[in-house]
Amino acid sequence: MDWLAREKGKANMKSCAFCRAPLRRKTIEHIHRWGRHLYLFKNVRAEVCSQCGETFLRPTVLRLMDRYTSKGKVGKTRISIPVISLPAKISA
Ligand SMILES: [Zn+2]
Repeated sequence: MDWLAREKGKANMKSCAFCRAPLRRKTIEHIHRWGRHLYLFKNVRAEVCSQCGETFLRPTVLRLMDRYTSKGKVGKTRISIPVISLPAKISA
């Protein structure tokens, strides 16, 4: 994500920063963390690696999400997610 933010101005990302595979433009759901809060954004345009599945968000999309969350423009729909704490010792 930081990588893409630094590539500001480059309109087309052609390959993955990690595995160099081609990126595909997709509309995804993205979990955005703001402090202790998580927000699920839908209809997020992103570039997704065709090989490793890593997603890259454009700086403009990131700024838009920050604008929504910082102004408290949060959706009315809530979801709950299960919280699981793994044991310190895992028996093999
Ligand atoms: Zn990749």
